Amino acid sequence: MNNNARVRYAPSPTGMQHIGGVRTALFNYFFARSRGGAFVLRVEDTDQSRSHPEALQDIYDTFEWLGIAADESPRTGGPYGPYVQSERIDLYRRYAEELIAAGRAYYDYTSVPRDEAPRGANSRDDVAEEPSESNEKGTAGAYNFEGRHLSPEEIEKRKAAGVVPVVRLLIPQDGKTEFNDLVLGTIKRKNKDLPPDPILLKSDGFPTYHLANVVDDHLMEITHVLRAQEWVPSTPLHLLIYEAFGWDPPEFAHLPMVMGKDGSKLSKRHGSTSVVEFRRQGYLPEAIMNYITLLGWSYDDSREFFTREELEELFSLEKINKAPAVFDYRKLDWFNGQYLRELPEDRLVGELMPYMEAEGWTSVPAERADRERLRALLPLIRERLKVLGDVVPLVRFLFEDVTEWSAEELIPKKATARDAGRWLELAWAVVEKIGLEDQDAVDQALRAAAEEIDTKVGNLLMPLRVAITGSSVSPPLVGSIRELGLERARKRVAGAQAVLERAATSD
Ligand code: GLU
Repeated sequence: MNNNARVRYAPSPTGMQHIGGVRTALFNYFFARSRGGAFVLRVEDTDQSRSHPEALQDIYDTFEWLGIAADESPRTGGPYGPYVQSERIDLYRRYAEELIAAGRAYYDYTSVPRDEAPRGANSRDDVAEEPSESNEKGTAGAYNFEGRHLSPEEIEKRKAAGVVPVVRLLIPQDGKTEFNDLVLGTIKRKNKDLPPDPILLKSDGFPTYHLANVVDDHLMEITHVLRAQEWVPSTPLHLLIYEAFGWDPPEFAHLPMVMGKDGSKLSKRHGSTSVVEFRRQGYLPEAIMNYITLLGWSYDDSREFFTREELEELFSLEKINKAPAVFDYRKLDWFNGQYLRELPEDRLVGELMPYMEAEGWTSVPAERADRERLRALLPLIRERLKVLGDVVPLVRFLFEDVTEWSAEELIPKKATARDAGRWLELAWAVVEKIGLEDQDAVDQALRAAAEEIDTKVGNLLMPLRVAITGSSVSPPLVGSIRELGLERARKRVAGAQAVLERAATSD
């Protein structure tokens, strides 16, 4: 095993962490762990206008939530710091000058400074990781090498007029650039098809992504670059920069795309994709981690469940797929449900409590009695939870009174208000008769009653379910009535009965 593997996750702090970004972070993290190497977090904030502190905080929060720690980062420091690009600006300028001195880059006095160029050319949605600008002219059309050919007099004239140059990489117009991607295989590009002399240093002195990324990967001794496939077009360019410096490039592994179920690239359109949103809804970090790692990686054809510790051991580049991965919300829900079912009771109660608190159903802060109450409800709700937030609609009927019932919900499909009224009466009579001590006995008696009147048990129970819980989706009915108590349940049945009677007279 190569113990010297060094990989990095290099996000630009421009938006909340989303599925694609986290997938890249996890693959890097697991790769480093499986190799006994180092996982570096480097913040690429050279586009200052789009970077913001909340986004940086969100990176830290996401890592913490997932339980992954970088070996070197802006927070932990390390021997290759600083790990924030805006703190390394002088360095990029020095390296740009080195390339100019070597004849591999040049000052271009023809390009319009960025802040004078129209904005909008680089707008991106917050899911796609798109390559940043290669042309400082914004929307004003492709660069046509004008800056290469400016006469010394013309340069002097522009200098005198206060034009601040950009620095451009000199791309040879012949030959080709080729690399062996560890996932995709050989990738070749004719140099003349690459972006024309991309900018390395902008006129405001800030580097572009390309320069900063290559310089840092080199200085931080990164051995493997694992990043999203969107960056493939930039890689030949990066290789030319390595070559211009005389540096050995790292290995590259571009990760498969993540698509929505409709086959288009995963984006906001497909629903929430930011990790903070998944977290809010009540997905568990271990479920998210497990599911995201399977987006483009598989251990074998069948195994689906992995703990973090297992992934730290089992992950390998060889098992990364070329084919796009499909992000399926239903599958994620299923995963999360499985994890919720396995969770130790104490932890589940702890995880659910904030949702109860937010509804005002507990003391603030929640007390032992609140937790015990919730714990007693677990048998009723556990199997029905896909996300932690599902607890709220499931137990609302116990914490808030139900005073209104919609006739539409009370009346099963294809039945009349009169039918529903009769069924409600019958079902309730069974409950009153048998009592709630023996739940199985009540269930059995209800089933027998349905058979007797030759209707489906679902029909018989629906009006009662809606009467008790105010909703047609609820935890198991008998257990729900038991939790609510006969007294309160009786009142609700009477209230619902009145609604059905009114509906029956207007039929
Ligand atoms: N800062 C880039 C991003 O936002 C890094 C891409 C790379 O890994 O080279 O994704």
